[in-house]
Amino acid sequence: MNIIDKIKEQRDITREDLELILTTDNREAIEYLRQAARAEADAVYGNKIFMRGLIELSSYCRNDCLYCGLRRSNKEAVRYRLTEEEIYDCCETGYKLGFRTFVMQGGEDGWFNDERMCRIVSTVRQKYPDCAITLSLGERSRESYQALFDAGANRYLLRHETADAEHYGKLHPAEMSWQHRMDCLQALKEIGYQVGCGFMVGSPFQTIDTLYADLQFIRSFQPHMVGIGPFVSTHNTPFEGYPNGTVEMTLRLLALIRLLHPRVLLPATTALGTLHPRGRELGIQFGANVVMPNLSPRTHRKDYAIYDNKICTGEEAAECRACTEQRIRKIGFESVVDRGDYKE
Ligand code: SAH
Repeated sequence: MNIIDKIKEQRDITREDLELILTTDNREAIEYLRQAARAEADAVYGNKIFMRGLIELSSYCRNDCLYCGLRRSNKEAVRYRLTEEEIYDCCETGYKLGFRTFVMQGGEDGWFNDERMCRIVSTVRQKYPDCAITLSLGERSRESYQALFDAGANRYLLRHETADAEHYGKLHPAEMSWQHRMDCLQALKEIGYQVGCGFMVGSPFQTIDTLYADLQFIRSFQPHMVGIGPFVSTHNTPFEGYPNGTVEMTLRLLALIRLLHPRVLLPATTALGTLHPRGRELGIQFGANVVMPNLSPRTHRKDYAIYDNKICTGEEAAECRACTEQRIRKIGFESVVDRGDYKE
């Protein structure tokens, strides 16, 4: 039995096999991996790709993650936050365009405290009872996560960034804790959210061992969603000038995650599209089944600058949606705008 079949059969991978797959230049083996991953995705979700509308709430952030363009030490970053009205307008535009999942993401901005954020969530919940509300607002207290859930949020994306505590320490300032991040993920799951974790591919100091830990974490945590994309070196951060992650490595990891956790919701991320003109299409061909077109107001798009050269900062929401849909259709997939819940 070959390695790929074994991984699929056992829903597990050894460190040695991971190293082989990530370092091989055997194109046939990679094509076999791609087809196996795509077949798994097809078996669960068919040729359907779920569209989520992304709304970037705020570029203010109290954190100082070394990789991120919105870190608080970056005095050059342009800061904005959407008003409640702007957020509701984004949802309305998105709803009319057919979106049934809204992803509200932002820096860790104290302005969006529990009172304000719960009001926003419950307003959107009442207006669009048929929509899923996904939040991606970083680390908050368990009470806060619970209140937002009670207000009507359904899903939460919080990348673990790396499952190796020592590696985490090299990507974040001392006041941030790997254990706290893990505790947040656990709390979110216990509260009843559909939870997404994830990591950057090719982040500084990442090794086969840390990636192996990431895959084993995904196996044991059994998240509903996994967001991975290449690390993109960003100006005015301590990692400016570090090498970017690669598209190739990201695609191989997407495929492996699909084989290890076949039902997972797996986005072809904007970062992948940033490093390759057909990055998101390739992601889908390697087993991804979610894309997240941007619904943020065009006036602020370019200022949600978590990394350099981010794509889709010029288009209107409708253009973004149409472009994404066309790209998906072109490679033989069907974009769907229903809630696209995780299949138990
Ligand atoms: N503040 C929220 C949202 C963060 S932005 C939170 O903490 O969850 C979403 C993701 O973008 C991050 O989790 C990180 O994995 C990714 N990201 C940040 N900087 C990046 C960079 N330079 N290159 C690639 N991805 C990056």
